[in-house]
Amino acid sequence: MGEQTSYGNAGVIEGNTVFPPAFPSDPGALARIALKRASEANYHLSFLPQIAPWLLAFRAASRPQLLVENARLIRPLFARAVAEHEALMAESGAAHYLRKTGWLKVYRSERSFAALKPEFELAAQFGLPLQALDTAGAQALEPSLNPVFAHAVYWPEAASVSNPLGVTRAYAARFSALGGVTLTGDARSLHRSGQRWRVETNEGGIDAAEVVVALGPWAGDLLSSLGLKLPLMVKRGYHRHFHAQGNAVLARPVLDTGAGYLITPMQQGIRMTTGVEFAARDAAPSPVQFERIMPKVRELFPLGERVDDQTWLGSRPCLPDSRPVIGRAPGLAGLWLAIGHAHWGLTLGPATGRMIAEMMMGEAPFCDPAPYRAERFLK
Ligand SMILES: Cc1cc2nc3c(=O)[nH]c(=O)nc-3n(C[C@H](O)[C@H](O)[C@H](O)COP(=O)(O)OP(=O)(O)OC[C@H]3O[C@@H](n4cnc5c(N)ncnc54)[C@H](O)[C@@H]3O)c2cc1C
Repeated sequence: MGEQTSYGNAGVIEGNTVFPPAFPSDPGALARIALKRASEANYHLSFLPQIAPWLLAFRAASRPQLLVENARLIRPLFARAVAEHEALMAESGAAHYLRKTGWLKVYRSERSFAALKPEFELAAQFGLPLQALDTAGAQALEPSLNPVFAHAVYWPEAASVSNPLGVTRAYAARFSALGGVTLTGDARSLHRSGQRWRVETNEGGIDAAEVVVALGPWAGDLLSSLGLKLPLMVKRGYHRHFHAQGNAVLARPVLDTGAGYLITPMQQGIRMTTGVEFAARDAAPSPVQFERIMPKVRELFPLGERVDDQTWLGSRPCLPDSRPVIGRAPGLAGLWLAIGHAHWGLTLGPATGRMIAEMMMGEAPFCDPAPYRAERFLK
């Protein structure tokens, strides 16, 4: 449990999210991606025909007006993210993994910083505090950063964790302590059995009136076999761990925006995560982005030797409007969905859990569930 995508992420609990991830609007950035020169994105040429319709839908959902609408729709869920994690961490003994040190985004070009105006305006409307910093201001927070950027933005109310797997395991242990039972089996064996659902496990079949599907990037395998086709694709991403050189320190996640990577302090070392790769979920790893990124990381932060020899690969489970699906599965009575959390599944896990539990118990969910319905893809 917690050993797949939820293991290798960058550990940011990004309750401050304003805009969901968007299709690039800058023709120069698109050209660099197309020519495979971009550090923030890579793709497998053979996968393009398969993902083209999804990319078009992603681009359509990234029009400026829709992004603003989407930001308003997702805000209530994100607003709940840090508080839900804190509550769960307190009761599961995981609070020592939590850092309430915010996160820092650095901007190397004037243009990329100037483009933040709409985000700043919307953040102000949402009441989200942020600090626009110059190089010295950012170095006051992170003294080991080299001055290769002109601007930075500090988001003080984001949090991060030093070991995402440790957090998941602590939550799972709490679930067991409360009487929850964990069994292993292939979720693809789920099928109708009379009025109920049945799944095979290593300990035999289990029947239930209601089932929640939370299979991350594998959700589509089960759902399409049940006749429910949702536009769930993956944006793959990689990580590696490094030592810091000498006395260099990092107190919080730092996103080098234009360069397309994030460095974050973890118990295992400094974890460097890549941007996105459009490729089949099960295709062999192709971590070429590291070659493009490494010179930029070393420019920004004095990374030392690698800690691990293995490069981790994970798949962000993504829907084209970057909103998760949380709620009933259309046409499949008793089946519930908690899928498609894309770039922010660590952040949103507990808030999603609360929302789906409230709906299943017939209580009023803490925010309007309408924006998360799967039906939006079935019109
Ligand atoms: C490089 C990278 C960096 C990221 N950084 C962040 C970040 O900083 N903050 C953030 O909030 N999010 C981040 N994310 C996104 C986040 O990690 C994901 O959104 C989240 O982990 C998805 O969680 P999940 O539970 O849906 O999927 P998963 O964690 O993948 O869980 C799916 C589970 O289903 C199980 N499963 C699959 N098939 C079957 C089957 N047939 N039978 C039984 N079980 C099955 C798997 O074993 C797994 O345990 C990042 C992702 C990547 C790739």
